[in-house]
Amino acid sequence: MLSLEHKAKVRITAVRRRTIRVAAGALPRARCAACGREVETLTRSQAGEILEVGDQELGAFLAAGRVHTIPTVSGSLRVCKESLFAAIP
Ligand SMILES: [Zn+2]
Repeated sequence: MLSLEHKAKVRITAVRRRTIRVAAGALPRARCAACGREVETLTRSQAGEILEVGDQELGAFLAAGRVHTIPTVSGSLRVCKESLFAAIP
């Protein structure tokens, strides 16, 4: 029997291994102004890991607006997961 869970796993194997590890945990959700809806958010280091870029390169992605950022009340930035997948070449 092909359960829903099994189907999800099959689909996920097509995505990068590193992405799965991040996706395995529950990610905090926040409203992304650019997407206009609630999205899952990542820390900068998680985002860098998924894109396989260093913090400097990630900074360039953010500055170019290729990846959406969401400011937090504590003054740090979280990264919109939706935009991250769009940014993967
Ligand atoms: Zn977004």
